[in-house]
Amino acid sequence: MSATILSGSELAKSMRAEIEADVQAFVKAHGYAPTAAIVRAGEDPASISYSNALEKALGARGLGFKLHTLPGNASQKEIVGLVAKLNADKTVHGIMVQEPLPKGIDEAAVKEAMSPDKDVDGVHPVNTGRLAQAAPAGRPPMVGPFFVPATPAGGMEILKRNKVNLLGKHAVVVGRSNIVGKPMALLLLRENASVSICHSQTADLPGMCRTADILCAAVGKANMIKGYWIKPGAIVIDFGVNFAGDKMVGDVDFEEAVKVAGMITPVPGGTGPMTNIMLMKNVIEAAKRQVK
Ligand code: NDP
Repeated sequence: MSATILSGSELAKSMRAEIEADVQAFVKAHGYAPTAAIVRAGEDPASISYSNALEKALGARGLGFKLHTLPGNASQKEIVGLVAKLNADKTVHGIMVQEPLPKGIDEAAVKEAMSPDKDVDGVHPVNTGRLAQAAPAGRPPMVGPFFVPATPAGGMEILKRNKVNLLGKHAVVVGRSNIVGKPMALLLLRENASVSICHSQTADLPGMCRTADILCAAVGKANMIKGYWIKPGAIVIDFGVNFAGDKMVGDVDFEEAVKVAGMITPVPGGTGPMTNIMLMKNVIEAAKRQVK
């Protein structure tokens, strides 16, 4: 048996047209493009390459992009002051603050300084709190609108567009970060899966994984999840981005897992390409909400 490959690259390609159509309709209606601002303090090479890639990706779809850089010795007051300026700037609809921030900066305070309505990364406590309090799909929403971090949103979009039925299924999420594992677990719960969250202190991780109908990996350890950890026919979503030498690999040992799973995302070409797509959707959504 060989698993069906859930290609995020193919899905992202097809969704680019949807994004462009959305942007064009917005520009036609309002005369300006939905625009994101990135705040970067310091010259971390990974942050620079991420913001360059983002500028290219947003520009290619017709979205606006503004980069705001501060020196590596910027103070808390300067960073928060810039965020406050962007909150008030009507030409900016989404704000992202790049990590890592310089040593000594209180990252939580910077996140909280952002307007929740412009927090397109879904990291402000209002957005994470509303996700946690949101009612299951099909019931009255219970909370106001919120933004979901782009990476888990992309994982959910892969499941949705491949018509994976989550209702009543056991989903196991390995990883509990605020940006991937935890929101993924909450999103699966909202879609009526029964969810277990695993982490570095979980006893018998292989045994837990083997109970999963849907197995999501967000760990950051190359090829950690082995084929024998996977229930035959399970659906595997691998968020891991790791390097084994020059080769990019996921958290799941793909060569082994593909023989056991029913469906699996590859690395590269799985969840990765969906992240920018979902971020762009958040920027458009933010602009639409601000018009209202
Ligand atoms: P974090 O380092 O913030 O979290 C890792 C999680 O994995 C933690 O909850 C940790 O547990 C858990 N963990 C670590 N070691 C083990 C272990 N041996 N067994 C079980 N659990 C373990 O990482 P992120 O959530 O930010 O990222 C996870 C992965 O996703 C990384 O590879 C990252 O590069 C990738 N990523 C991919 C993106 C994409 O676009 N596809 C975007 C963002 C991230 P504990 O809480 O106990 O420490």
